[in-house]
Amino acid sequence: MPFCEPCDKWRAPNALMPDGTCPRCRTVVQEPPAVDPAAADATKIPWHFWVMVAAAGLYLMWRVIEGVSWFF
Ligand SMILES: [Zn+2]
Repeated sequence: MPFCEPCDKWRAPNALMPDGTCPRCRTVVQEPPAVDPAAADATKIPWHFWVMVAAAGLYLMWRVIEGVSWFF
């Protein structure tokens, strides 16, 4: 938990301003959360996910063709 020296108080991390400053005296008591470009990129759907989807789709399509061929 970050400590604010000018206020002589402990501040809960979620009680701070979004930039990590004390809401009363505006002293920076906690480093603002660094925006990690790799973490921001992780929210994007990776290309191999679509490869998996395509492979699963092809497999299911093959199973359907195989299944239907049993009736003839
Ligand atoms: Zn303060």
